Amino acid sequence: MVKVDNEKCDQCGTCVSVCPTSALMFIQEPVIDQKTCIGCGKCIKVCPFSALSSLK
Ligand code: SF4
Ligand code: SF4
Repeated sequence: MVKVDNEKCDQCGTCVSVCPTSALMFIQEPVIDQKTCIGCGKCIKVCPFSALSSLK
């Protein structure tokens, strides 16, 4: 499970392009489908603004 800090997010869209399960969608801001997310952490690593973090 991953969450977005909307105050840090620059809406660059990078996270959406690396998600292997298309759990991340961009609807004005990144939205994560927690059912589809496999917790791989790729989006967290690529975010240039550290806006994504793991939610436990
Ligand atoms: S942790 Fe992996 S599966 Fe989950 S939203 Fe990020 S890139 Fe997609
Ligand atoms: S990679 Fe980070 S800054 Fe870019 S859209 Fe995703 S959460 Fe926002």
